[in-house]
Amino acid sequence: MSLMTYEVIACPTCKWKQEVEVWASLNVTIDPSLRARLFAGEINFFRCLCGCEGELAASLLYHDMARKIAIHLYPAGVQIDTTGMDPSTWLELPEYLRHPKIVASLEEMCELIELMEKGN
Ligand SMILES: [Zn+2]
Repeated sequence: MSLMTYEVIACPTCKWKQEVEVWASLNVTIDPSLRARLFAGEINFFRCLCGCEGELAASLLYHDMARKIAIHLYPAGVQIDTTGMDPSTWLELPEYLRHPKIVASLEEMCELIELMEKGN
């Protein structure tokens, strides 16, 4: 499942506030357009009219069921959160999903996706 919420974020430079999409997880098997948007820099990326831009400090799970790829992005300073995990359902998850690869930036995530896709 893909999870997205809207958040109002103030530009760190000019303080202008805008509503941005904040994605918590991308299931690219169900919605392949999300993979394209990720590689186009349209996922969890902030752009302001003043020219200020950057990655949002949000964790993101990339999930490709067909290729068995799971990559979790934890930006610097964001705690790895396992509090929502129910041990009984966790055990039913496939191995690759129980131990997602961990990256620290969107750039790293895209590089790893391409690498893992080639490997399969
Ligand atoms: Zn701005």
